[in-house]
Amino acid sequence: MEIAFVGNPNTGKTALINSIAGSDLEVGNWSGVTVEKKEVTLKYQNENIHLVDLPGTYTLSPYSIEEKVTRSVICADDIDGIINVVNSTDLRRNLYLTFELIDLQKPMVLALNMFDEFKKRGYDIDTDKLSKLLDMQVIPTIASKGLGKKEIISKIYENIKNNKISKPFVYQDHIEKEIKFLMNKMKDVECNIKRFVAVKLLENDDFALNKLKDYPSILEEAKQARIRLSNHFGMDVKKFIVEYRYQKIDEILEQVLKAPIVDKVILSDRLDNILLNKYLGIPLFFVIMFLVFQLTFSGSQPLVDWTNWFFQDFLGHKLEVLLSSYPHWVSSLVVDGIIAGVGLVLSFLPLLAFLYFFMAILQESGYMARISFLLDKLASKIGLKGNGFISLILGFGCNVPAIYSTRSMGTFRERIILALMIPFMSCSARFPIYVLFTSLFFTSYKALIILSLYMLGIFIAFFIAFIANKFLPKNEIKPFFLELPTYHIPTTKAIWNLMWPNIKDFLYRAGSIIVLASVILWGIINLPPKSTPDTSYLAQVSKEITPIFKPLGFGEHWEVVAPLISGTLAKEIVISSMGTIYGVESNKDSSLTLQQKIHSAFPNSKAAFAYLVFILLYIPCVSTMAAIKSEFGWKLMILEVTILPIIAYIVSFIVYQVLSL
Ligand code: GDP
Ligand code: MG
Repeated sequence: MEIAFVGNPNTGKTALINSIAGSDLEVGNWSGVTVEKKEVTLKYQNENIHLVDLPGTYTLSPYSIEEKVTRSVICADDIDGIINVVNSTDLRRNLYLTFELIDLQKPMVLALNMFDEFKKRGYDIDTDKLSKLLDMQVIPTIASKGLGKKEIISKIYENIKNNKISKPFVYQDHIEKEIKFLMNKMKDVECNIKRFVAVKLLENDDFALNKLKDYPSILEEAKQARIRLSNHFGMDVKKFIVEYRYQKIDEILEQVLKAPIVDKVILSDRLDNILLNKYLGIPLFFVIMFLVFQLTFSGSQPLVDWTNWFFQDFLGHKLEVLLSSYPHWVSSLVVDGIIAGVGLVLSFLPLLAFLYFFMAILQESGYMARISFLLDKLASKIGLKGNGFISLILGFGCNVPAIYSTRSMGTFRERIILALMIPFMSCSARFPIYVLFTSLFFTSYKALIILSLYMLGIFIAFFIAFIANKFLPKNEIKPFFLELPTYHIPTTKAIWNLMWPNIKDFLYRAGSIIVLASVILWGIINLPPKSTPDTSYLAQVSKEITPIFKPLGFGEHWEVVAPLISGTLAKEIVISSMGTIYGVESNKDSSLTLQQKIHSAFPNSKAAFAYLVFILLYIPCVSTMAAIKSEFGWKLMILEVTILPIIAYIVSFIVYQVLSL
């Protein structure tokens, strides 16, 4: 049994599925989080029920790719029932989709979600009456707290079992007559959503036209019907149908909805008066980001110190003692290779946990969604729309999902511009490198220095986009709705649900690719046999390249250049590689700590900063490249892989030279 969860973006579809099935699909309050169809299996009444999560959509006559995913899934035969999740605080807009869904004539229930917000704002609704008018069960739910989940699933299950289908929504007489007429013409067509297709034929919708492409006579009948109707109404049929639906919605809401005399959304609006203020909005955004870095830094510091001690001093020494009865290379591999490399990366876990925590708060509270609003004007200058910034913000977490998220961001042209910008967003793998270096080389203004790296990335991204926008062939920009969720206080559970996948992913990578890279690197440093690190193949090759970086200030020590190469696999590997290289080297000189050694590889803090700039820009990791390739093809990937190192070199050079003045 397949049950689809359908609704506008941000109505809580994913949250409802999670609360029903106890799953952990990603919840988020901006559109674009659920790009593809996702499925969760629930055992119910000894049956396997598939709960299908879909991208949000406002209509079944969609524009964007992700909305099309939704339509094609729910129009397919294997969907047995629909749970229409609506935001009860925005019923007029949400019920539009409900009316379209009713045309599908499949078992359905309506979840009035966000019922807590609804009550909080002082609204009231007569659910019995609404249920009668729509001929369908209407159930208030609070997905984030699991309220109403049992009833939802049991009602839809019953409806599917009894094949209970709501009475169709009745259109205006003439329209209704033509619908019947077309459905009758489709008698012999294999299709079990005939009413829906008939309505869409009248709307002259691609989907319906395409569905009946093998039946030219019906298409011709439909065309005649459209002509009859538009002559009768004196207006476009689709327009008439759309307006008719809204008119009916208004009639229904008139009967069932009691709006408060004073809307309690006022608080949210007051906040927006400040946070979205024409002059204050953007500066406040930077202040908030600065606070996030500052709090991340100072909050995690003690924990980072502890994990650092744990991996470097405690675990390293314990293992060294433990392995002392084995040949020397075993303990060298484990302690100098793996622990030094992976441990160094892992010691930043508390730092990232803090970052993810604050990001989750920004996202859950509803602030993130506002950033696209703030930057909408700016966006139009580079051929984008405000919602494109959602992809860019996702890029601060990880560039890979950011690349995939561009799918829901409109035209191919806009997507290409975004794909060119995303690699400049400082992902959370770059963050520990920034932190390691700023704590080594700078005594004050650390958060500001890190913020400046983020800003530099953003600035260059805009610059590139600006150029791309000039040269890419122009096409029309589709209008987009900007829907701002009301602010709410995030629940701990929702925050955890956002943090955990990121933490899991970080640990997974530390345990897989970073261990592997550390082992391989350890192997290479010890080749040829009997060499010292300084005479190893790795050192020989790296020493060839190292002088290239002299103008950037870090062309003296191969130990910090080699990690740039391995770091193309994943940026954390820059750190683990330094750990491994210096770990092995420490055999000959252990008077210095790892941090001190890194410190000694740079002539001054300007060179260290130039190094960070280079790392920010020089190349996206292989996973990002793969994502770009799969979404946009070879050409764009190769373009990015060539221009990025060049940009990195030039910018890093300028930064170093300017700082040295
Ligand atoms: P989707 O886009 O429809 O999948 O929406 P999500 O499930 O991602 O939820 C969007 C946001 O609304 C998240 O921040 C949820 O935590 C929040 N949310 C979901 N259901 C409710 C609810 O009933 N009440 C409140 N206050 N928030 C909710
Ligand atoms: Mg979702």
